[in-house]
Amino acid sequence: MLENFDRNLQKYADLIVNMWVNLQPTQRLLIRAPIEAAPLVEKVTISAYQASARLVTVIWSHDPLELARFQYAPRDSFEEFASWISDGYYQHIKDGHALLSIYAEDPDLLKEQDQKLIGIAMKTRMQKTSQFSSLLSKNAVNWNVISYPIPGWARKVFPRLSDELAVEKLWDTIFDICRIKQADPLAAWKEHVRQLVSRAGYMNQKQYTALKYSGPGTDLTLGLPENHIWLSAGFASQAGIPFIANAPTEEIFTLPHKGIGEGTIRASMPLNYGGTLIEDFSLTFKDGKVIGFTAEKGQELLKSLLDTDEGASHLGEVALVPHSSPISQSKLLFYNTLFDENAASHIALGRAYRFSLEGGVAMSEEQFASAGGNYSLAHVDFMVGNSEMNLDGITKDGKTEPVMRKGEWAFEV
Ligand code: ZN
Ligand code: ZN
Repeated sequence: MLENFDRNLQKYADLIVNMWVNLQPTQRLLIRAPIEAAPLVEKVTISAYQASARLVTVIWSHDPLELARFQYAPRDSFEEFASWISDGYYQHIKDGHALLSIYAEDPDLLKEQDQKLIGIAMKTRMQKTSQFSSLLSKNAVNWNVISYPIPGWARKVFPRLSDELAVEKLWDTIFDICRIKQADPLAAWKEHVRQLVSRAGYMNQKQYTALKYSGPGTDLTLGLPENHIWLSAGFASQAGIPFIANAPTEEIFTLPHKGIGEGTIRASMPLNYGGTLIEDFSLTFKDGKVIGFTAEKGQELLKSLLDTDEGASHLGEVALVPHSSPISQSKLLFYNTLFDENAASHIALGRAYRFSLEGGVAMSEEQFASAGGNYSLAHVDFMVGNSEMNLDGITKDGKTEPVMRKGEWAFEV
């Protein structure tokens, strides 16, 4: 048992409720969680009621049930979906209540399963939950995603340890990365968020027209739309409630212009998509669209991701993370996007967040698209940053300014 485990878990729960979700006394809290996370869910529930939550409800999941479907369900049944669940989420958000997602998956869970069926199930889920995810992507309410070590995941991160030790080690790492062990985690988080917000502010003032990535296997220029907004995970909901969309968080991000992108970019880490890894891959862009790709592993799955819809072969997010971030410094590959995306600069195939464009939330689909915003059912991040990545900003009058050098910020705030 880890030293101070119970106390640290309590601090984690308190940060979730009081800062990351920032639950308000008038709100209900809906939690989705794997059943392994019950000890944390219990602490969060208590903390939520202590913060005067009106009602806390939980929707549980369990990896072996997901696996059983791929093993035993009829092969033609993967477009089935329990819509009442997504309707429930939608209603909850529409009524202005808060959402906490505890995300924990065994990255190898579906390794042996048919990639086509995984693709169909993923696409069906994205279609059936699109109403709900579009509300979330407009920050209709305060929401937060965090993680919880389960054995299948911990084993993947620490393959040489027993399950029990691997889970302990993963907890220890998460407590470090989430600043839980610091004397005053709440104060540490406030300072961290202040810094992220300052970096975003600097980039907003610059209003670069394009970003140029260079490094081994990478030479890519991406256009940025006029009036793009750099953001950090420090958001405010439509009701004005400040919250942290995901923890840990180290990134600032905006949207690229979906029609302006030339060159090739090489992923710097594997991508875990629908329970399977896509490894050693590169994408080549012309006019902002993927026109070529290679992958050492998971080529077919990458193809099915790109084929999800028209927007899935365009980009919807560019995000910057210094190579010295605590996650990167842990030198671990987490096989979990929530962590890995905060270890490195990344870009996302698919949907752009409307709030990353000035006035974007109020725009019609056509207006958003003609301003350069991408739409897709998919939004899938993959890592491109490492200690060799250089990034330049191109100003309105065509000058080139350094933004990152060897993976680190090239400007002070
Ligand atoms: Zn991101
Ligand atoms: Zn993203």
